[in-house]
Amino acid sequence: MDVREQLTGHLTWLAELGIDGVSRDPAWRRVPADDAATASRPAGAVPGGGRGEAAAGALASIRADLGDCTRCKLHRLGRRQIVFGVGSPGARLMFIGEAPGRDEDVQGIPFVGRAGQLLTKMIEAIGMTRDEVYIANVIKCRPPENRNPEPDEVASCEPFLFRQVEAIGPVVIVALGTFAAQTLLETQDTISRLRGRVYHYGGAQLVPTFHPAYLLRSPERKRDAWEDLKLAKSLLDQAAAAAAPGS
Ligand code: SF4
Repeated sequence: MDVREQLTGHLTWLAELGIDGVSRDPAWRRVPADDAATASRPAGAVPGGGRGEAAAGALASIRADLGDCTRCKLHRLGRRQIVFGVGSPGARLMFIGEAPGRDEDVQGIPFVGRAGQLLTKMIEAIGMTRDEVYIANVIKCRPPENRNPEPDEVASCEPFLFRQVEAIGPVVIVALGTFAAQTLLETQDTISRLRGRVYHYGGAQLVPTFHPAYLLRSPERKRDAWEDLKLAKSLLDQAAAAAAPGS
């Protein structure tokens, strides 16, 4: 693919998001301190330095505790494998969705189907990569026919997500869709009511937005999702600036 095709594809995606202009604000292009660290990181090093290495150990311990989990009925309703999570243990930004779908169940990685490809584009649209963030779901096994998780399944599985969040210690969490937002915020409000504001979860700031699968069905909401992602990015940048020496 030549540069012109790449540029056309990128601009088409931005247009799909509802972005009708490009900011000339230099702050938007500034590479945060953590991103600069990422660029110069030696091969094999864990992002986030010592904190990332500790988080990697904690995540491995949580995965070991989960084992070949049979704590809820989803283990005997057709799952192929547990889909634990993927990304940087030292991530400052964490995405949390609902449950694995068919593609995720096959590959064992969250958000790899069509919705996952959209999520990847959303991450790249704010100048980041999947390797820099951490992605997980509330539920680790695929519900049959992609039905909604049931309360007993959530009760059995959510403690492992809460431990993942505690291990990673993200600065910002983006809750993808009604289900994740309701679980983390302990509310019954819909995502349409919840989005557009910043909440707190543990030590993190939480930004709810639409699930990418919903955005595929309702592309007119991509503009709202883009606003939410810009909000999440601005929170990350503010935190990085506040933590910078001399600030
Ligand atoms: S959904 Fe969670 S609690 Fe249920 S079997 Fe899978 S890993 Fe265990």
